Amino acid sequence: MVLRLLPAALLTVLLLVIPAKNSLLAAESVEVVDVEGQPLGANVKRLISALDYLGAPLSDELVQKLTVASEQRNARQIQKLLDPEVLCVVSLNPEVRTKVARGPAQAVLQQGGFTPFLIKVINQSTVTRQLQISSPQAGAVYSGAALNSLKRQAQTELNQNENKQSASDRFLEVELFQASPMTVRLSGLECEYVLALIYCHESGKREATLGFDVGAGTQDIGFRGEVPILFTVKKAIPVKLAIRDFDGKPTAARLQFRDQQKRVYPLQAKRLAPDFFFQPQIYRQDGETVLLPAGELEMEYSRGPEYQRLTRKISVSASEPQTVEVNLQRWLNPRDYGFYSGDHHIHAAGCAHYDNPTKGVTPLDMFKQVKGEGLNVGCVLTWGPCFDVQRQFFSSSADRVSEPLTILKYDLEISGFGSAALGHVCLLNLQNQTYPGTLGTVKGWPSWTVPVLRWCKEQGGVTGYPHSALRVNPPQAAIRMINDLDRDQSESINADEAGQGLLPKTFASIDEDGDGQLNEQELTRALEQSADELPNLAVPEMNGGGAMEICVSTAEGVCDFVSAMDTERIPEWNTWYHILNCGYPLKVSGETDFPCMSSRRVGQGRVYVNLGDVDEVDFPEWCRGIQQGRSYVSDGYAHALEFQVGGQSPGFEEVQLKEPGKVEVTAKVAFASETPRAVAYGLLDPPEGKRAVGDTRVLHAPRNSEYVTGGERLVEIVRNGEVVARKKVPADGQVHDLKFTVPVSQSSWIALRQFPQLHTNPVNVIVDQRPIRASRESALWCAETIKLLWKNRHQKIAERERPAAEETYQRAIQSYLKRAQEATP
Ligand SMILES: [Zn+2]
Ligand SMILES: [Zn+2]
Repeated sequence: MVLRLLPAALLTVLLLVIPAKNSLLAAESVEVVDVEGQPLGANVKRLISALDYLGAPLSDELVQKLTVASEQRNARQIQKLLDPEVLCVVSLNPEVRTKVARGPAQAVLQQGGFTPFLIKVINQSTVTRQLQISSPQAGAVYSGAALNSLKRQAQTELNQNENKQSASDRFLEVELFQASPMTVRLSGLECEYVLALIYCHESGKREATLGFDVGAGTQDIGFRGEVPILFTVKKAIPVKLAIRDFDGKPTAARLQFRDQQKRVYPLQAKRLAPDFFFQPQIYRQDGETVLLPAGELEMEYSRGPEYQRLTRKISVSASEPQTVEVNLQRWLNPRDYGFYSGDHHIHAAGCAHYDNPTKGVTPLDMFKQVKGEGLNVGCVLTWGPCFDVQRQFFSSSADRVSEPLTILKYDLEISGFGSAALGHVCLLNLQNQTYPGTLGTVKGWPSWTVPVLRWCKEQGGVTGYPHSALRVNPPQAAIRMINDLDRDQSESINADEAGQGLLPKTFASIDEDGDGQLNEQELTRALEQSADELPNLAVPEMNGGGAMEICVSTAEGVCDFVSAMDTERIPEWNTWYHILNCGYPLKVSGETDFPCMSSRRVGQGRVYVNLGDVDEVDFPEWCRGIQQGRSYVSDGYAHALEFQVGGQSPGFEEVQLKEPGKVEVTAKVAFASETPRAVAYGLLDPPEGKRAVGDTRVLHAPRNSEYVTGGERLVEIVRNGEVVARKKVPADGQVHDLKFTVPVSQSSWIALRQFPQLHTNPVNVIVDQRPIRASRESALWCAETIKLLWKNRHQKIAERERPAAEETYQRAIQSYLKRAQEATP
């Protein structure tokens, strides 16, 4: 207990031998001022209960004496009793200038926790402003996180006062306790007491400066608004964690510690790897430790979405070694069904990560995150930021921190350099990360994606586009359609003109006023409706992010997958559906793009690959599973543990029918009984409408950490992009068996989905050995996106590469047009 360390008598003796001018040490005496006893007594009463609440009560004896003095309204006696406990005396002169002096209290802190200190405020100004505390030793220990990235997840406060100068003395955190029963503003009384909370994450003797003011320009000139204090910081005892998995084996966990005021520990502003400042949680392996403040804390523990989220109170002692047991429980184990989870797109640098004091974080730091979220595979992709440093971690096989059931592999995302303007690409299972002629730098890479993907595939790699949503902009798309199709300068499109292009809906349904002309307003309204539908024929802008060149590279046979689960679900799945409808074997994979899209945790978007019953995950084999589509994608709270069409699972054999008929579809699905309430999971409606559902990139709503329990999920069977059967399933954590009969009249792909949380890869049903040509419009949509992309972006392709690129684009357009012709009308 800091506030009653020395009896007043002993204190007086000590003070006599202290040089009076040394402000680092305790001051001799505190001025006792004339003030009315009743309001000061009320202030002290609130102070006493606040200190109780903060777990740092004043001694019973002192409380008793203060109570008597308060009842007697004896202001001078109250001050005489409390002043020995004061760390600083803040004086506001009549001109509202603030100066501060050291008080008599001992400056003793406990490492890793907040210690309350009494501050006496002598207020000659009688202003009732908010008192503020500051310290040059306070603030973030890191710097370099991308503001944009923090903005998207609504936590920009995390890079306020970042450590740009690489200062090594940012050991302090200071704040005033202004919650009830204390007050936000000064009362205006000539004398009152307030509470400061001071935190230090280092131990030993530390000199720090505290400053006080009541707004800009109110600190006294000549540094009298600041006071240096020598703190003695008692060493915290690390709390050891005994972490057991559902089966009793040691493992890693996701842990979150909060005190009664919901404050998170370790403090986010003081976190360096392995703890990430942009997450409230931390990750630890069995036997590792964490520094926590003494007292009661709430511990939330889990190991990702397949585990229960459990909480319990723990009591931390400041003086004795202790072990906290963490016993994890699963609600589901996809491995029982042969599925091994992974996130093929995470980063150890850039976006929310810092680049100071280190250029991103290490494989071991990322491994804890991956294992602590229960992922079997994490692909750490080196990209533009910190490229030179991060590339050293590359290896042609799994990183050496890997374990049989937790694999980390370093690969590449071409982003921030090279072909990025034509769509970022993920290159997985690379054997060699140096593109010929680049000498291991970001210079000299191809400026469009097809050659990069080809190079990856030639070395046995697996390729795909990340954060793939291609967004529709209805007003712009309407203007573009009129510009492209309106031959007779009528500023609208007639039926003849429409025949040359691709309408989002039928002519008649767009032509609301029935005048035989589609004007800009009618087209905009039709495009607005389409953008909220899946599938839809609205052509996206092809001038931003997303899987821009995917229709080209898929036609060239060099793209294996389109990513899902991190950007808006409708455009993600829409692109994929159109390409599948043309008969291309494109697969879907699941990713987070941590911490660029979402910085909340790795494995927010996942792919579950069917490897059967194995004791060890083989990374190349797992990647082959993505390539073959032996998988489903999910946010981890929704699962298709079995999905069969005519007895075949996705990624294995095709189902052959001699003639049109019916196929049996069976499935085992399970949905968590507790799911985060967020747009990302479809459990909050985004203000932008259905088109934004599933997005993890921005929150679309105020930040919250609420969960939704129970409810129902709509499982749909999709044939060539259209829903042909559906069934509601309770979100109860149980496995449910489903059975459907689906008619098939032509060669088709069939998959299972639950929008926006879950999609399986398809099983193809081939009728009479004919290829899948499911939709003429899908083929035209693909061709349109290629044409528009070329128009918008061909100048981003280097001149020397442009002829080859143009030829490839033309070839791709022709293959889609050919497939459009081959499709059943
Ligand atoms: Zn990217
Ligand atoms: Zn990325």
